[in-house]
Amino acid sequence: MSSFREIFDQYNWSQLEHDIYSKTDQDVESALKKYPRDLEDFKALISPAATPYLEQMAQLSHELTLQRFGNTIQLYTPMYLSNECQNICTYCGFSMNNKIKRKTLSNEEIDQEVKAIKDLGYDHILLVTGEANQSVGVGYIDKAIRRIRPHFANVSMEVQPLDQKDYERLIDSGLHSVLVYQETYHQEEYKTHHPKGKKSNFYYRLDTPDRLGKAGIHKMGLGALIGLEDWRIDSFFVALHLDYLERTYWQTKYSLSFPRLRPFSGGLEPKVEMKDKELVQLISAYRLFNQEVELSLSTRETENFRDNVMKLGVTTMSAGSKTNPGGYAVEPQSLEQFEISDERSPKQVAEMIKNNGYEPVWKDWDIALEGV
Ligand code: SF4
Repeated sequence: MSSFREIFDQYNWSQLEHDIYSKTDQDVESALKKYPRDLEDFKALISPAATPYLEQMAQLSHELTLQRFGNTIQLYTPMYLSNECQNICTYCGFSMNNKIKRKTLSNEEIDQEVKAIKDLGYDHILLVTGEANQSVGVGYIDKAIRRIRPHFANVSMEVQPLDQKDYERLIDSGLHSVLVYQETYHQEEYKTHHPKGKKSNFYYRLDTPDRLGKAGIHKMGLGALIGLEDWRIDSFFVALHLDYLERTYWQTKYSLSFPRLRPFSGGLEPKVEMKDKELVQLISAYRLFNQEVELSLSTRETENFRDNVMKLGVTTMSAGSKTNPGGYAVEPQSLEQFEISDERSPKQVAEMIKNNGYEPVWKDWDIALEGV
């Protein structure tokens, strides 16, 4: 296969829905006993039939995570460089049709934000922008990475999907990881939520992890935005995508996120609501399916929920996040992309992690382990 889309096109959403919802107790029990587990087992573990096995799944997930990652949680924080965007996304505060004050950080403002973030203790930063080629195209991102890289052990980014040659250029400038979420793998629903701009091209986005793999990125993050469609089917596609990528680009490392739709000013109500227990089920299912993958939980989730699930399979957490450009120092009051739920400072989150017998890690593991 030369790209994931060839695999994707062989699947049918309704058929998958039927497969997952008709899994039985026996399917779940057999999936729990097996190792390694395959995609059929994953379907059983995310199915409604697995609900009574949640405690067992969470315990197994905890043990597998401990074996692979030890009792550590890696911390990172996002730095928003710009809220300019030429896309319409129905669930985002930065959408082009929202009348908000637009801002892109200048070099001096980037330096101020870097200082504020370093003062919080971070060595791992996630750069975020909207999609606006005039103001925050590859040239801007490249300059920003070169400016920021000397101050951090690890620079990741979550920006518009790019061409392979652009990724190669940014990797040369010091880019370590890229997060690119498909939002939903349901094509019609995708069109509804992305009616305008480059992001409306479903297949260009779907092919992005392939372009990243070909460019030789060190790590990439996948996920679906939970709330746009049935989380079970979307999460199956995330697992399918991961499975394909790991086999195809085996030198790259992977992480998964499971962001639940959050309110923002004038925002969209989730079509499908995922309960806390269902998110625990999904986190455990991902871990039982794949022991190597990093699982990341952001400040979208509440303090209480994050404290409770921290030990159940999660490996990475953000803390003290600001989701607006200049949010740490330059312009703290500007409009956020979405409201965060856990508003504790990084120090408080690190304390909570320690109180649970875990070690907060401020660098990327690979780099921390290399002792760089
Ligand atoms: S989700 Fe990203 S691409 Fe869509 S409107 Fe928001 S910033 Fe722009």
